[in-house]
Amino acid sequence: MLVKTTCPICHCDTYIQVDAEEYARWQAGELIQVAMPYLHPEDREMLVSGICPDCWDEQLVDEYGDGEDLWLSEEDFDETGFNPYMGCYDFDC
Ligand SMILES: [Zn+2]
Repeated sequence: MLVKTTCPICHCDTYIQVDAEEYARWQAGELIQVAMPYLHPEDREMLVSGICPDCWDEQLVDEYGDGEDLWLSEEDFDETGFNPYMGCYDFDC
């Protein structure tokens, strides 16, 4: 069967070919990696969250591509109220 997913980030539609019986098992509560172990992680992610491979790649780049983002992200800012733009965190100054 063909499963259509809509990416929550870029809103593109992607179709994945999966076995209907396995898909039903996943829908019934079985872990997707157990029901469809042959799927690539990207494909599983697409089924689970709808995120398309392009955005998945960009997410990875955002998270791991820039060293500074590793320790200071917008999420950190939201959770702690820590404002990276109002203080000096350079030990030299
Ligand atoms: Zn996308």
